[in-house]
Amino acid sequence: MEKILNYINGVLTEPVSGKFFNNINPAEGKPYSLVPDSGAEDVAKATAAAQHAFAKWSTSAKDRSAILVKIAELVERDLDKLALAESIDQGKPVTLARSLDIPRAAANIRFYATAILHESATAHFTDNEAINYTQHTPIGVVGCISPWNLPLYLFTWKIAPALAAGCTVVAKPSEITPMTAYLFSKLCIEAGLPAGVLNIVHGVGARAGQAIIEHPEIKAISFTGGTVTGKTIAATAAPMFKKLSLELGGKNPNIIFADCDFEKAINTSIQSSFANQGEICLCGSRIFVERPLYEKFVAEFTERTKKLIVGDPLDDETNLGAIASEVHLNKVLAYIELAKQEGGTVVQGGKQVKLAGRCADGYFLEPTIITGLSHTCRTNQEEIFGPVVTIMPFDSEAEVLEYANSTTYGLAATIWTENLKRAHRMAALVKSGIVWVNCWLLRDLRTPFGGMKQSGIGREGGFEALKFFTDEKNVCIKL
Ligand code: NDP
Repeated sequence: MEKILNYINGVLTEPVSGKFFNNINPAEGKPYSLVPDSGAEDVAKATAAAQHAFAKWSTSAKDRSAILVKIAELVERDLDKLALAESIDQGKPVTLARSLDIPRAAANIRFYATAILHESATAHFTDNEAINYTQHTPIGVVGCISPWNLPLYLFTWKIAPALAAGCTVVAKPSEITPMTAYLFSKLCIEAGLPAGVLNIVHGVGARAGQAIIEHPEIKAISFTGGTVTGKTIAATAAPMFKKLSLELGGKNPNIIFADCDFEKAINTSIQSSFANQGEICLCGSRIFVERPLYEKFVAEFTERTKKLIVGDPLDDETNLGAIASEVHLNKVLAYIELAKQEGGTVVQGGKQVKLAGRCADGYFLEPTIITGLSHTCRTNQEEIFGPVVTIMPFDSEAEVLEYANSTTYGLAATIWTENLKRAHRMAALVKSGIVWVNCWLLRDLRTPFGGMKQSGIGREGGFEALKFFTDEKNVCIKL
Protein backbone atom coordinates (compact mmCIF):
# COMPACT_ATOMS: atom_id res chain seq x y z
CA MET A 1 0.00 0.00 0.00
CA GLU A 2 1.16 3.52 -0.74
CA LYS A 3 2.74 5.25 2.24
CA ILE A 4 1.75 8.86 2.83
CA LEU A 5 4.74 10.78 4.21
CA ASN A 6 5.19 13.86 6.36
CA TYR A 7 6.60 16.97 4.67
CA ILE A 8 9.17 18.44 7.02
CA ASN A 9 11.95 20.87 6.15
CA GLY A 10 11.26 20.41 2.44
CA VAL A 11 11.64 16.62 2.55
CA LEU A 12 9.07 13.81 2.45
CA THR A 13 9.81 11.76 5.53
CA GLU A 14 8.55 8.90 7.72
CA PRO A 15 7.35 9.69 11.25
CA VAL A 16 9.92 9.40 14.07
CA SER A 17 7.93 6.49 15.56
CA GLY A 18 8.16 4.59 12.26
CA LYS A 19 4.49 3.72 12.78
CA PHE A 20 1.69 4.06 10.24
CA PHE A 21 -2.03 3.36 10.37
CA ASN A 22 -4.54 2.44 7.67
CA ASN A 23 -6.22 5.04 5.49
CA ILE A 24 -9.66 3.74 4.50
CA ASN A 25 -11.40 4.25 1.17
CA PRO A 26 -14.96 4.90 2.46
CA ALA A 27 -16.61 3.78 -0.79
CA GLU A 28 -15.04 0.33 -0.41
CA GLY A 29 -14.69 0.14 3.37
CA LYS A 30 -11.11 -1.04 2.85
CA PRO A 31 -7.64 0.37 3.57
CA TYR A 32 -5.82 1.66 0.53
CA SER A 33 -2.89 3.64 1.90
CA LEU A 34 -0.94 4.22 5.11
CA VAL A 35 -0.87 7.38 7.24
CA PRO A 36 2.12 8.40 9.42
CA ASP A 37 1.29 8.15 13.11
CA SER A 38 3.19 11.31 14.02
CA GLY A 39 3.63 12.76 17.48
CA ALA A 40 5.36 15.49 19.46
CA GLU A 41 8.84 14.68 18.09
CA ASP A 42 7.68 15.16 14.50
CA VAL A 43 5.95 18.41 15.43
CA ALA A 44 9.14 19.59 17.17
CA LYS A 45 11.18 18.89 14.02
CA ALA A 46 8.60 20.64 11.85
CA THR A 47 8.50 23.66 14.17
CA ALA A 48 12.30 23.95 14.24
CA ALA A 49 12.35 23.88 10.43
CA ALA A 50 9.60 26.52 10.29
CA GLN A 51 11.48 28.75 12.76
CA HIS A 52 14.61 28.50 10.66
CA ALA A 53 12.75 29.32 7.43
CA PHE A 54 10.87 32.29 8.88
CA ALA A 55 13.46 35.09 8.56
CA LYS A 56 13.88 34.71 4.81
CA TRP A 57 10.26 33.87 3.96
CA SER A 58 8.87 36.85 5.86
CA THR A 59 10.91 39.47 3.99
CA SER A 60 9.47 39.82 0.47
CA ALA A 61 5.76 39.80 -0.37
CA LYS A 62 6.65 39.86 -4.07
CA ASP A 63 8.71 36.67 -3.81
CA ARG A 64 6.04 34.96 -1.71
CA SER A 65 3.38 35.90 -4.21
CA ALA A 66 5.33 34.50 -7.15
CA ILE A 67 5.88 31.10 -5.58
CA LEU A 68 2.32 30.79 -4.28
CA VAL A 69 0.94 31.61 -7.75
CA LYS A 70 3.17 28.84 -9.11
CA ILE A 71 1.70 26.39 -6.58
CA ALA A 72 -1.85 27.45 -7.56
CA GLU A 73 -0.98 26.77 -11.21
CA LEU A 74 0.29 23.29 -10.33
CA VAL A 75 -2.94 22.54 -8.45
CA GLU A 76 -4.86 23.59 -11.57
CA ARG A 77 -2.58 21.48 -13.78
CA ASP A 78 -3.28 18.43 -11.57
CA LEU A 79 -6.99 19.14 -11.14
CA ASP A 80 -8.18 15.73 -12.39
CA LYS A 81 -5.59 13.79 -10.41
CA LEU A 82 -6.31 15.70 -7.20
CA ALA A 83 -10.09 15.43 -7.69
CA LEU A 84 -9.83 11.68 -8.11
CA ALA A 85 -7.63 11.41 -5.01
CA GLU A 86 -10.06 13.55 -2.99
CA SER A 87 -13.01 11.45 -4.05
CA ILE A 88 -11.29 8.17 -3.18
CA ASP A 89 -10.08 9.50 0.19
CA GLN A 90 -13.23 11.31 1.31
CA GLY A 91 -16.07 9.51 -0.47
CA LYS A 92 -17.46 12.58 -2.23
CA PRO A 93 -18.58 12.39 -5.88
CA VAL A 94 -15.59 12.97 -8.13
CA THR A 95 -17.73 15.45 -10.08
CA LEU A 96 -17.99 17.59 -6.94
CA ALA A 97 -14.26 17.39 -6.23
CA ARG A 98 -13.64 18.42 -9.85
CA SER A 99 -16.08 21.33 -9.85
CA LEU A 100 -15.77 22.58 -6.24
CA ASP A 101 -12.97 21.26 -4.01
CA ILE A 102 -9.92 21.45 -6.23
CA PRO A 103 -10.78 24.64 -8.17
CA ARG A 104 -11.47 26.31 -4.83
CA ALA A 105 -8.12 25.09 -3.43
CA ALA A 106 -6.34 26.77 -6.34
CA ALA A 107 -8.51 29.89 -5.94
CA ASN A 108 -7.65 30.12 -2.22
CA ILE A 109 -3.94 30.16 -2.97
CA ARG A 110 -4.22 32.56 -5.89
CA PHE A 111 -6.48 34.90 -3.90
CA TYR A 112 -3.98 35.35 -1.05
CA ALA A 113 -0.95 35.26 -3.34
CA THR A 114 -2.31 38.30 -5.15
CA ALA A 115 -3.93 40.02 -2.14
CA ILE A 116 -0.52 40.65 -0.60
CA LEU A 117 0.45 42.69 -3.65
CA HIS A 118 -2.36 45.13 -2.87
CA GLU A 119 -1.95 45.69 0.83
CA SER A 120 -1.51 49.15 2.25
CA ALA A 121 -0.83 50.48 5.72
CA THR A 122 -2.92 53.01 7.63
CA ALA A 123 -1.55 56.31 8.95
CA HIS A 124 -3.02 58.73 11.50
CA PHE A 125 -1.98 62.37 11.67
CA THR A 126 -2.27 63.76 15.20
CA ASP A 127 -2.85 67.49 14.58
CA ASN A 128 0.54 68.99 13.88
CA GLU A 129 2.20 66.93 16.57
CA ALA A 130 2.83 63.46 15.25
CA ILE A 131 2.38 60.89 12.51
CA ASN A 132 1.28 57.39 13.46
CA TYR A 133 1.58 54.50 11.06
CA THR A 134 0.46 50.95 11.65
CA GLN A 135 2.59 48.04 10.62
CA HIS A 136 1.49 44.44 10.20
CA THR A 137 4.32 41.99 10.69
CA PRO A 138 4.00 38.22 10.27
CA ILE A 139 3.53 36.56 13.63
CA GLY A 140 6.07 33.72 13.19
CA VAL A 141 5.38 29.99 13.12
CA VAL A 142 1.67 29.16 13.07
CA GLY A 143 -0.38 25.96 13.33
CA CYS A 144 -3.17 25.12 10.86
CA ILE A 145 -5.50 22.21 11.58
CA SER A 146 -8.23 21.23 9.14
CA PRO A 147 -11.11 18.71 8.97
CA TRP A 148 -12.12 15.87 6.64
CA ASN A 149 -15.19 17.18 4.86
CA LEU A 150 -13.56 19.50 2.29
CA PRO A 151 -9.96 18.36 2.73
CA LEU A 152 -7.78 20.31 0.29
CA TYR A 153 -10.29 23.18 0.08
CA LEU A 154 -10.12 23.90 3.83
CA PHE A 155 -6.44 23.00 4.18
CA THR A 156 -5.52 25.67 1.62
CA TRP A 157 -8.06 28.14 3.04
CA LYS A 158 -5.84 28.19 6.13
CA ILE A 159 -2.31 27.78 4.89
CA ALA A 160 -2.67 30.21 1.96
CA PRO A 161 -3.26 33.36 4.08
CA ALA A 162 -0.69 32.19 6.64
CA LEU A 163 2.03 31.71 4.02
CA ALA A 164 1.03 34.83 2.08
CA ALA A 165 1.19 36.92 5.27
CA GLY A 166 4.81 35.78 5.71
CA CYS A 167 4.33 33.17 8.41
CA THR A 168 5.79 29.71 8.25
CA VAL A 169 3.44 26.85 8.96
CA VAL A 170 3.08 23.52 10.73
CA ALA A 171 -0.15 22.00 9.39
CA LYS A 172 -2.13 18.87 10.12
CA PRO A 173 -4.89 17.62 7.83
CA SER A 174 -7.50 15.26 9.21
CA GLU A 175 -6.25 11.70 9.70
CA ILE A 176 -9.35 10.55 7.77
CA THR A 177 -8.47 12.47 4.59
CA PRO A 178 -4.70 13.06 4.37
CA MET A 179 -4.11 12.16 0.71
CA THR A 180 -4.53 15.48 -1.12
CA ALA A 181 -2.40 17.33 1.47
CA TYR A 182 0.31 14.74 0.75
CA LEU A 183 0.00 15.27 -3.01
CA PHE A 184 0.04 19.00 -2.32
CA SER A 185 3.37 18.70 -0.49
CA LYS A 186 4.85 17.18 -3.66
CA LEU A 187 3.58 20.18 -5.64
CA CYS A 188 5.24 22.53 -3.14
CA ILE A 189 8.54 20.73 -3.72
CA GLU A 190 8.04 20.96 -7.49
CA ALA A 191 7.26 24.68 -7.23
CA GLY A 192 10.48 25.27 -5.27
CA LEU A 193 8.88 26.36 -2.01
CA PRO A 194 11.87 26.91 0.32
CA ALA A 195 12.45 24.13 2.87
CA GLY A 196 10.66 24.59 6.19
CA VAL A 197 8.18 27.23 4.99
CA LEU A 198 5.30 24.72 4.99
CA ASN A 199 5.51 21.55 7.07
CA ILE A 200 2.75 18.94 6.99
CA VAL A 201 2.57 16.52 9.88
CA HIS A 202 0.08 13.65 9.50
CA GLY A 203 -1.48 11.78 12.38
CA VAL A 204 -4.32 11.72 14.84
CA GLY A 205 -5.69 14.81 16.51
CA ALA A 206 -5.04 13.73 20.06
CA ARG A 207 -1.29 13.23 19.39
CA ALA A 208 -0.04 15.18 16.37
CA GLY A 209 -2.77 17.84 16.60
CA GLN A 210 -2.41 18.31 20.34
CA ALA A 211 1.40 18.60 19.98
CA ILE A 212 0.89 21.51 17.56
CA ILE A 213 -1.46 23.25 19.98
CA GLU A 214 0.95 22.76 22.89
CA HIS A 215 4.20 23.75 21.17
CA PRO A 216 5.38 27.00 22.77
CA GLU A 217 7.01 28.31 19.56
CA ILE A 218 3.77 28.05 17.56
CA LYS A 219 2.30 31.50 18.07
CA ALA A 220 -1.15 31.21 16.52
CA ILE A 221 -3.61 28.42 15.81
CA SER A 222 -6.10 28.41 12.95
CA PHE A 223 -8.47 25.50 13.46
CA THR A 224 -11.54 24.24 11.58
CA GLY A 225 -13.44 21.32 13.03
CA GLY A 226 -16.02 20.33 15.60
CA THR A 227 -17.08 22.55 18.50
CA VAL A 228 -16.02 19.97 21.12
CA THR A 229 -12.49 19.80 19.65
CA GLY A 230 -12.49 23.61 19.45
CA LYS A 231 -13.13 23.79 23.20
CA THR A 232 -10.23 21.42 23.93
CA ILE A 233 -7.94 23.47 21.72
CA ALA A 234 -8.99 26.75 23.33
CA ALA A 235 -8.44 25.26 26.80
CA THR A 236 -4.80 24.52 25.92
CA ALA A 237 -3.98 27.50 23.72
CA ALA A 238 -5.71 30.35 25.57
CA PRO A 239 -3.57 30.16 28.76
CA MET A 240 -0.51 30.20 26.48
CA PHE A 241 -1.85 33.48 25.00
CA LYS A 242 -1.79 32.09 21.49
CA LYS A 243 -3.84 33.84 18.87
CA LEU A 244 -6.82 31.66 18.00
CA SER A 245 -9.12 31.43 15.00
CA LEU A 246 -11.78 28.75 15.46
CA GLU A 247 -14.20 27.75 12.69
CA LEU A 248 -16.54 25.26 14.31
CA GLY A 249 -19.81 23.44 13.79
CA GLY A 250 -23.19 24.62 12.59
CA LYS A 251 -26.88 23.75 12.74
CA ASN A 252 -27.99 26.09 10.04
CA PRO A 253 -31.58 27.22 9.43
CA ASN A 254 -32.96 27.29 5.89
CA ILE A 255 -36.00 29.59 6.12
CA ILE A 256 -38.52 29.43 3.30
CA PHE A 257 -41.30 32.01 3.11
CA ALA A 258 -44.45 31.37 1.08
CA ASP A 259 -43.60 34.29 -1.22
CA CYS A 260 -40.31 32.72 -2.36
CA ASP A 261 -39.44 31.73 -5.90
CA PHE A 262 -40.49 28.12 -5.31
CA GLU A 263 -38.45 26.51 -8.07
CA LYS A 264 -35.24 28.23 -7.02
CA ALA A 265 -35.85 27.61 -3.33
CA ILE A 266 -36.48 23.92 -3.76
CA ASN A 267 -33.63 23.28 -6.20
CA THR A 268 -31.10 25.09 -4.04
CA SER A 269 -32.46 23.47 -0.88
CA ILE A 270 -31.71 20.04 -2.36
CA GLN A 271 -28.12 21.24 -2.72
CA SER A 272 -27.90 22.89 0.68
CA SER A 273 -29.29 19.74 2.30
CA PHE A 274 -27.39 16.97 0.57
CA ALA A 275 -24.31 18.33 -1.25
CA ASN A 276 -21.18 16.45 -0.18
CA GLN A 277 -23.50 14.00 1.68
CA GLY A 278 -24.55 16.90 3.92
CA GLU A 279 -20.99 17.04 5.23
CA ILE A 280 -20.53 20.78 4.78
CA CYS A 281 -20.56 23.00 7.86
CA LEU A 282 -22.79 25.41 5.88
CA CYS A 283 -25.50 22.90 4.95
CA GLY A 284 -29.01 23.95 5.98
CA SER A 285 -30.01 21.03 8.16
CA ARG A 286 -33.14 22.62 9.65
CA ILE A 287 -35.67 23.66 7.01
CA PHE A 288 -38.46 25.96 8.20
CA VAL A 289 -41.34 26.46 5.74
CA GLU A 290 -44.11 29.03 6.08
CA ARG A 291 -47.34 27.13 6.67
CA PRO A 292 -49.23 27.97 3.43
CA LEU A 293 -46.34 26.40 1.47
CA TYR A 294 -45.50 23.60 3.92
CA GLU A 295 -47.42 20.62 2.44
CA LYS A 296 -46.46 21.49 -1.12
CA PHE A 297 -42.81 21.95 -0.16
CA VAL A 298 -42.56 18.66 1.76
CA ALA A 299 -44.19 16.73 -1.09
CA GLU A 300 -42.04 18.25 -3.84
CA PHE A 301 -38.83 18.18 -1.79
CA THR A 302 -39.41 14.49 -1.01
CA GLU A 303 -40.10 13.66 -4.67
CA ARG A 304 -36.89 15.33 -5.82
CA THR A 305 -34.82 13.81 -3.01
CA LYS A 306 -36.03 10.32 -4.05
CA LYS A 307 -34.47 10.91 -7.47
CA LEU A 308 -30.99 11.60 -6.06
CA ILE A 309 -28.56 8.82 -6.88
CA VAL A 310 -26.53 7.37 -4.01
CA GLY A 311 -23.71 5.60 -5.74
CA ASP A 312 -20.09 4.98 -6.57
CA PRO A 313 -18.30 8.32 -6.04
CA LEU A 314 -16.30 7.73 -9.21
CA ASP A 315 -19.46 7.50 -11.33
CA ASP A 316 -20.34 10.83 -12.96
CA GLU A 317 -24.08 10.18 -12.41
CA THR A 318 -23.73 9.95 -8.61
CA ASN A 319 -25.28 12.71 -6.48
CA LEU A 320 -24.33 11.38 -3.03
CA GLY A 321 -21.15 9.38 -2.50
CA ALA A 322 -19.95 7.60 0.62
CA ILE A 323 -20.04 8.94 4.18
CA ALA A 324 -16.44 9.77 5.14
CA SER A 325 -15.92 7.01 7.72
CA GLU A 326 -17.68 4.09 9.36
CA VAL A 327 -17.62 5.89 12.71
CA HIS A 328 -19.33 8.88 11.15
CA LEU A 329 -21.90 6.70 9.33
CA ASN A 330 -22.84 5.10 12.67
CA LYS A 331 -23.09 8.51 14.30
CA VAL A 332 -25.50 9.74 11.60
CA LEU A 333 -27.56 6.52 11.81
CA ALA A 334 -27.77 6.96 15.60
CA TYR A 335 -29.20 10.45 15.09
CA ILE A 336 -31.85 9.05 12.74
CA GLU A 337 -32.84 6.57 15.49
CA LEU A 338 -32.89 9.42 18.00
CA ALA A 339 -35.17 11.42 15.72
CA LYS A 340 -37.64 8.50 15.67
CA GLN A 341 -37.50 8.21 19.46
CA GLU A 342 -38.19 11.93 19.69
CA GLY A 343 -41.39 11.44 17.68
CA GLY A 344 -40.13 12.31 14.22
CA THR A 345 -41.46 10.74 11.01
CA VAL A 346 -38.88 9.66 8.46
CA VAL A 347 -40.67 10.64 5.26
CA GLN A 348 -37.75 9.71 3.04
CA GLY A 349 -34.57 7.65 3.44
CA GLY A 350 -33.20 6.83 6.88
CA LYS A 351 -31.39 3.65 5.94
CA GLN A 352 -27.93 2.52 4.99
CA VAL A 353 -27.54 1.77 1.25
CA LYS A 354 -25.89 -1.45 0.14
CA LEU A 355 -24.31 -1.08 -3.28
CA ALA A 356 -23.05 -3.90 -5.50
CA GLY A 357 -19.55 -4.51 -6.85
CA ARG A 358 -16.50 -2.72 -5.51
CA CYS A 359 -18.68 -0.52 -3.26
CA ALA A 360 -20.40 -3.47 -1.51
CA ASP A 361 -18.72 -2.70 1.83
CA GLY A 362 -18.82 1.10 1.53
CA TYR A 363 -20.48 3.54 3.91
CA PHE A 364 -23.54 4.78 2.01
CA LEU A 365 -26.67 6.37 3.39
CA GLU A 366 -29.97 7.45 1.87
CA PRO A 367 -30.67 11.19 1.85
CA THR A 368 -33.06 11.50 4.77
CA ILE A 369 -35.99 13.82 5.49
CA ILE A 370 -37.64 13.95 8.90
CA THR A 371 -40.80 15.84 9.85
CA GLY A 372 -42.93 16.18 12.98
CA LEU A 373 -40.20 17.29 15.38
CA SER A 374 -40.11 20.25 17.72
CA HIS A 375 -37.35 22.82 17.19
CA THR A 376 -36.09 22.14 20.74
CA CYS A 377 -35.43 18.39 20.48
CA ARG A 378 -31.86 17.07 20.33
CA THR A 379 -32.19 16.17 16.63
CA ASN A 380 -32.83 19.85 15.96
CA GLN A 381 -30.24 21.19 18.38
CA GLU A 382 -27.16 19.01 17.74
CA GLU A 383 -25.01 18.92 14.64
CA ILE A 384 -25.52 15.70 12.65
CA PHE A 385 -23.25 16.58 9.72
CA GLY A 386 -24.76 14.08 7.30
CA PRO A 387 -27.47 13.81 4.61
CA VAL A 388 -30.26 14.38 7.12
CA VAL A 389 -32.66 17.33 7.25
CA THR A 390 -35.73 18.12 9.29
CA ILE A 391 -38.65 20.17 7.95
CA MET A 392 -40.89 22.22 10.24
CA PRO A 393 -43.76 24.66 9.57
CA PHE A 394 -43.99 28.21 10.95
CA ASP A 395 -46.59 30.98 10.95
CA SER A 396 -44.74 34.27 11.50
CA GLU A 397 -41.36 35.98 11.23
CA ALA A 398 -41.10 36.22 15.01
CA GLU A 399 -41.78 32.50 15.44
CA VAL A 400 -39.26 31.37 12.84
CA LEU A 401 -36.62 33.72 14.27
CA GLU A 402 -37.08 32.09 17.65
CA TYR A 403 -36.67 28.64 16.04
CA ALA A 404 -33.68 29.71 13.92
CA ASN A 405 -31.83 31.29 16.84
CA SER A 406 -32.62 28.54 19.36
CA THR A 407 -29.40 26.52 18.99
CA THR A 408 -25.96 27.12 20.47
CA TYR A 409 -24.63 27.48 16.92
CA GLY A 410 -24.58 30.54 14.67
CA LEU A 411 -22.65 29.77 11.51
CA ALA A 412 -24.88 30.31 8.46
CA ALA A 413 -28.52 30.88 7.55
CA THR A 414 -30.47 30.91 4.29
CA ILE A 415 -33.61 32.98 3.72
CA TRP A 416 -35.98 32.55 0.77
CA THR A 417 -38.37 35.44 0.07
CA GLU A 418 -39.14 37.81 -2.78
CA ASN A 419 -39.93 40.55 -0.25
CA LEU A 420 -36.82 42.72 0.00
CA LYS A 421 -37.83 44.49 3.20
CA ARG A 422 -38.44 41.19 4.92
CA ALA A 423 -35.09 39.85 3.66
CA HIS A 424 -33.28 42.79 5.28
CA ARG A 425 -35.33 42.50 8.49
CA MET A 426 -34.65 38.80 8.85
CA ALA A 427 -30.97 39.06 7.88
CA ALA A 428 -30.46 41.61 10.64
CA LEU A 429 -32.08 39.42 13.29
CA VAL A 430 -30.79 35.94 12.48
CA LYS A 431 -27.84 35.22 14.74
CA SER A 432 -25.29 33.82 12.33
CA GLY A 433 -22.02 34.95 10.81
CA ILE A 434 -23.22 34.37 7.25
CA VAL A 435 -26.69 34.97 5.78
CA TRP A 436 -27.60 33.97 2.25
CA VAL A 437 -30.76 35.46 0.74
CA ASN A 438 -32.20 33.52 -2.22
CA CYS A 439 -28.95 31.60 -2.70
CA TRP A 440 -26.60 29.24 -0.89
CA LEU A 441 -22.82 28.77 -0.84
CA LEU A 442 -22.34 31.78 -3.10
CA ARG A 443 -18.91 32.77 -1.90
CA ASP A 444 -16.83 35.87 -2.49
CA LEU A 445 -13.44 35.22 -0.94
CA ARG A 446 -13.13 38.87 0.09
CA THR A 447 -16.01 38.62 2.57
CA PRO A 448 -15.62 37.75 6.28
CA PHE A 449 -16.30 34.07 6.96
CA GLY A 450 -17.05 32.61 10.37
CA GLY A 451 -19.60 31.92 13.04
CA MET A 452 -21.29 33.49 16.04
CA LYS A 453 -21.92 31.75 19.37
CA GLN A 454 -20.39 28.25 19.54
CA SER A 455 -19.73 28.22 15.81
CA GLY A 456 -16.42 29.90 16.37
CA ILE A 457 -14.19 32.84 17.14
CA GLY A 458 -12.72 35.18 14.56
CA ARG A 459 -13.27 35.52 10.84
CA GLU A 460 -11.47 34.01 7.89
CA GLY A 461 -11.61 35.40 4.36
CA GLY A 462 -10.36 38.59 2.74
CA PHE A 463 -7.82 40.73 4.52
CA GLU A 464 -9.19 39.50 7.89
CA ALA A 465 -7.30 36.24 7.49
CA LEU A 466 -4.07 37.98 6.53
CA LYS A 467 -4.45 40.24 9.55
CA PHE A 468 -4.93 37.24 11.83
CA PHE A 469 -1.48 35.94 10.92
CA THR A 470 0.22 39.25 11.71
CA ASP A 471 1.07 41.34 14.73
CA GLU A 472 -0.17 44.90 14.60
CA LYS A 473 2.24 47.63 15.67
CA ASN A 474 1.68 51.37 15.83
CA VAL A 475 4.68 53.64 15.34
CA CYS A 476 4.25 57.21 16.57
CA ILE A 477 6.72 59.80 15.26
CA LYS A 478 6.80 63.26 16.85
CA LEU A 479 6.90 65.98 14.24
P1 NDP B 1 -12.77 17.38 14.45
O1 NDP B 1 -12.97 18.48 15.40
O2 NDP B 1 -12.93 15.98 14.92
O3 NDP B 1 -11.32 17.45 13.81
C1 NDP B 1 -10.81 18.58 13.13
C2 NDP B 1 -9.31 18.50 13.09
O4 NDP B 1 -8.80 18.64 14.42
C3 NDP B 1 -8.76 17.18 12.57
O5 NDP B 1 -7.58 17.42 11.85
C4 NDP B 1 -8.50 16.44 13.85
O6 NDP B 1 -7.57 15.43 13.68
C5 NDP B 1 -7.95 17.55 14.72
N1 NDP B 1 -7.98 17.31 16.16
C6 NDP B 1 -8.79 16.49 16.86
N2 NDP B 1 -8.49 16.56 18.18
C7 NDP B 1 -7.49 17.46 18.32
C8 NDP B 1 -6.76 17.99 19.41
N3 NDP B 1 -6.99 17.62 20.66
N4 NDP B 1 -5.81 18.90 19.17
C9 NDP B 1 -5.57 19.32 17.92
N5 NDP B 1 -6.21 18.86 16.83
C10 NDP B 1 -7.17 17.94 17.02
O7 NDP B 1 -13.72 17.71 13.23
P2 NDP B 1 -14.01 16.79 12.00
O8 NDP B 1 -12.75 16.48 11.27
O9 NDP B 1 -14.90 15.68 12.46
O10 NDP B 1 -14.85 17.80 11.07
C11 NDP B 1 -16.19 17.98 11.17
C12 NDP B 1 -16.51 19.23 11.97
O11 NDP B 1 -15.88 20.36 11.39
C13 NDP B 1 -17.98 19.55 12.01
O12 NDP B 1 -18.36 19.92 13.30
C14 NDP B 1 -18.10 20.75 11.07
O13 NDP B 1 -19.18 21.57 11.33
C15 NDP B 1 -16.81 21.42 11.31
N6 NDP B 1 -16.51 22.30 10.19
C16 NDP B 1 -16.58 23.66 10.37
C17 NDP B 1 -16.35 24.51 9.30
C18 NDP B 1 -16.38 26.00 9.48
O14 NDP B 1 -15.85 26.68 8.60
N7 NDP B 1 -16.96 26.53 10.52
C19 NDP B 1 -16.05 23.98 7.96
C20 NDP B 1 -15.99 22.55 7.91
C21 NDP B 1 -16.21 21.75 8.99
P3 NDP B 1 -8.05 13.91 13.40
O15 NDP B 1 -9.09 13.94 12.36
O16 NDP B 1 -6.79 13.35 12.93
O17 NDP B 1 -8.54 13.41 14.72
